[in-house]
Amino acid sequence: MADADEPFDLVIVGSGGGGLVAALAARAAGLRPVIVEKQGFIGGSTAMSGGMLWIPGNPLQQAAGIEDSSADGLEYLQAVIGDPDQPSSAARRAAFLSAGPRMVSFLQQQGLRLFLCRGYPDYYDNYPGGKASGRSVEGVPWDGRQLGEWRTRINPGLGKSVGLAVTTLEIHSLFAWARTLPAFALTARVVLRTYLSRLRGQDLFTNGMSFAGQMTKLLLDAGVPIWLNTAVEELVVEDGRVAGVRASRDGEPALVRGRHGVLLAAGGFERNSEMRLKYTGDTQRNDGSWSIGNPGNTGEVLAAAIALGAKTAYMDEAIWLPTPPREMGASSLTIARDYPHTIFVNAAGKRFVNESNSYVEVGRAMYANDAVPSWLIFDDAYRRSVPWVNTMPPLRQLARAIPGRIPSQWLAEGKIKQAGTIEDLARLIGVEPQALGETVTRFNEGAAVGRDPDFRRGISEYNRHLGDHAHKPNSSVGTIATPPFYAVPINPGDVGTMGGVVCDEHARVLDQDDQPIPGLYAAGNMAATVFGRTYPGAGASIANTAVFGYIAAQHVIATQDS
Ligand SMILES: Cc1cc2nc3c(=O)[nH]c(=O)nc-3n(C[C@H](O)[C@H](O)[C@H](O)COP(=O)(O)OP(=O)(O)OC[C@H]3O[C@@H](n4cnc5c(N)ncnc54)[C@H](O)[C@@H]3O)c2cc1C
Repeated sequence: MADADEPFDLVIVGSGGGGLVAALAARAAGLRPVIVEKQGFIGGSTAMSGGMLWIPGNPLQQAAGIEDSSADGLEYLQAVIGDPDQPSSAARRAAFLSAGPRMVSFLQQQGLRLFLCRGYPDYYDNYPGGKASGRSVEGVPWDGRQLGEWRTRINPGLGKSVGLAVTTLEIHSLFAWARTLPAFALTARVVLRTYLSRLRGQDLFTNGMSFAGQMTKLLLDAGVPIWLNTAVEELVVEDGRVAGVRASRDGEPALVRGRHGVLLAAGGFERNSEMRLKYTGDTQRNDGSWSIGNPGNTGEVLAAAIALGAKTAYMDEAIWLPTPPREMGASSLTIARDYPHTIFVNAAGKRFVNESNSYVEVGRAMYANDAVPSWLIFDDAYRRSVPWVNTMPPLRQLARAIPGRIPSQWLAEGKIKQAGTIEDLARLIGVEPQALGETVTRFNEGAAVGRDPDFRRGISEYNRHLGDHAHKPNSSVGTIATPPFYAVPINPGDVGTMGGVVCDEHARVLDQDDQPIPGLYAAGNMAATVFGRTYPGAGASIANTAVFGYIAAQHVIATQDS
């Protein structure tokens, strides 16, 4: 058995946001943490993601003169989530709001470079305590070459799949490059940044890769061991305390001890179909096949914690993401519900939600309204307004980014249904023609004057921000009136599960009697989230993992001598 005698203070399972932040905080306090990561890559879903962190009252807001506070944050969480329950207890909400800004300051002091996502509204900015000016921060475009041989060990993310060095704050404008002057200018800047960096021989990391890459560099410089290809299989209990893990390291069994405990930051179980089916049951039945979460997030660490007696909550819940069929995933279908001239309908041909609201809210509404799949209905005005690739083709193929060009095989093969009338479209998708006709007529009455009396689409700055800024008077609502008409099935995909072990405000895992399991901490999607069954803003999930990783490390630091 390898490494049995390594004297680590804290064993951190998983190299996502919570694991990376906890390791840096523990190291900065003089402890010896180790990160054990199952995959050959660092960063999990965190590296793959948009990489924003939603932190109310953060120091970058302060520096920009934007007023915010924990009190505003608390009011907002109460308005969005509702009354506290155990995972989203008053103490955990307060802990998140108090530690978040401190964590950002700490990371900046350590050398992490972030920028404020100014103008990216809270998802319910129209609720009490909500902010339209934005509370999210994101890693700056960062040259991955600084990682040396570790450069290729960061889980490839969003920016790499788009093919541009684009930040998450900027990404939405790429679709609108031909619609407005600001979007054109921003797209030009992003293209210029990308090609200039290539000329300089740089490898710019953006989004989650910037965060994970920068954090990895800080950890390596601080001498923190990061063990890749090390899969944790079991938790080790000695004298009534969790004292380490049993793992398979490069295929060899290894016992890794943590004098002060173990932090579980191994993500959700989105990629474990058996667990998904078990916990979603009949209410939100989902086998995980629509998930785009990190393939390594398969739930065995969560299962080990449950076997040890950990209490769980929200196990049927996920960070839902309304998702078109996979082969069309990298297209403007992903933003259609934010744009005018589109609606979602259920099997009965009825609308059921404000389509432009948070992806988590829309996903839940799909389940609650017999809308799995939902049908995205749009007209030719939408087709013409957007480019149909969201990857940046090589410059010589730029024509593919010209708005309106739906790949012809999607139509020919019937992946996108097309018809000259709404009634004919309804017949193609097996929906009652009269019902769909009535829905569209009703929607069009309001949409003609930019209103949505049924679901108030366009009511929030968040709705309007993600819409088509060239469309007046409401950037997210426009009639479905220009033939031909189109339909695409949309399923409740996700970017991760958000149920797991129940923790207290110190990120300690609780047992069935609500007592902390000695030596055991959890952060991120491993734990039932502090945000209940809601999603308050851009980067909420990464903030959740990073802040509770930070909190866990602080608790270990504060209690190490006790
Ligand atoms: C494409 C995409 C875009 C997203 N965009 C955003 C966004 O903009 N904002 C936002 O807030 N959220 C976003 N999310 C969701 C967010 O990234 C995740 O919810 C969050 O990063 C989860 O963090 P985590 O630390 O819990 O898990 P992860 O970051 O997934 O890390 C868990 C790690 O644990 C490892 N692991 C698993 N099992 C074991 C084991 N047995 N032994 C050792 N290691 C193990 C995994 O391999 C993984 O590396 C996005 C997700 C995706 C996929």
